[in-house]
Amino acid sequence: MKNIFLKKLIKDDILTKFFLFLRFKNSKKMKIPMVDLVGQYNKIKPEVDASIQQILSTGGFIGGPFVQKFQEDLQEYLNVKHVIPCANGTDALQVAMMGLGLKPGDEVITTSFTFIATAEVVALLRLTPVVVDVDMDTYCIDPEAVERAITPRTKAIVPVHLFGQCANMDAIMDIAKRHNLYVVEDNAQAIGANYTFKDGTVKKSGTIGNIGCTSFFPSKNLGCYGDGGAIFTNDDALADMMRVVVNHGMKTRYYHDYVGVNSRLDAIQAAVLDIKLKHLDEYIKARQYAAAYYEKAFAQTDKIVTPKTAPFTDHVYHQYVVVLKDLDRAKVMEHLQSKGIACAIYYPVALHMQKAYADPRYKKGDFPVCEYLCDHVMALPIHTEFTDEQLKYVTDAVLEMC
Ligand SMILES: *Cc1c(COP(=O)(O)O)cnc(C)c1O
Repeated sequence: MKNIFLKKLIKDDILTKFFLFLRFKNSKKMKIPMVDLVGQYNKIKPEVDASIQQILSTGGFIGGPFVQKFQEDLQEYLNVKHVIPCANGTDALQVAMMGLGLKPGDEVITTSFTFIATAEVVALLRLTPVVVDVDMDTYCIDPEAVERAITPRTKAIVPVHLFGQCANMDAIMDIAKRHNLYVVEDNAQAIGANYTFKDGTVKKSGTIGNIGCTSFFPSKNLGCYGDGGAIFTNDDALADMMRVVVNHGMKTRYYHDYVGVNSRLDAIQAAVLDIKLKHLDEYIKARQYAAAYYEKAFAQTDKIVTPKTAPFTDHVYHQYVVVLKDLDRAKVMEHLQSKGIACAIYYPVALHMQKAYADPRYKKGDFPVCEYLCDHVMALPIHTEFTDEQLKYVTDAVLEMC
């Protein structure tokens, strides 16, 4: 009897020690990726799998009810008249420029601090990209700089709602109105954000200018499981034109009135997006929770400058980008990576300093805020699946370097 009791005691002790060891081992190093798409998928798996299975068994891969339903649901969510699905966010921007009928030589003003797609389509269409500096606090395009860059050839402004908050649309819409310019919002990073105008009206990002463009790339706030994008507008004529553009420039099958492109969202992606759209507001809240945790943890140091949200917009935190002050960025990133924490630089090179976009009009030093940000920003992981324990692990690791 006694012997069995003793044996059990020893066994329990070994087990306890083993679990303590495992806990210690885990607490020493976690793996924190920039996004956790698999964790997110696992929570909606039954619904997603059923929809995909239904498409596989009916064979309606292109167009059809899933694309139609997603389009309508997104129109309702955004409170916008037309959503035109397309193949990706870059196409959305290109189709917008084509839909507006912009001609080679027309100037399009955008920010020098953005993902390349914004200017790429402008260059591809032989329009002239004109870039300007950004606001130090929000990293978004500076409206005063936009106004200074206007010439008789300017036709459009492309504000980018960078990292998840809206650019100053009161100011940009006012400039556009006074100079008779189109506004195309690059909303690839801010879907779901609300913009509050000076008069109190609230609109969803991407529904303010003539056209809004978005991307459903997997890591975006509303992402599919491949490539996808969409264009939004309240203008019926523009919507008609862009529907023609995305479909080989044809209204009647095999009659091509315009040179168009082939850009469509497939049924499987639309089905996934329609399911995720129902969760978008809750996904945004999860991102905002993580951002608030970061903000609070970094309040104790002035070496980490946390992102500020302008009073007229929500921040939906597509990225959580801080500015490192008096810190060696490479060393901080190396430290985080050694602890299994992913981090990145969005963006290391400003548009006007990119080789492919070299332009005699621009030189180093022209856009000091943008160039400062390129040299000092660091993006921390942010997604919908964070636990407090993981957030603590990340913030502790960053603070160790401060
Ligand atoms: C992702 C992104 C795009 C392009 O979207 P794709 O779907 O990858 O083509 C355009 N602009 C911005 C600001 C983006 O972040």
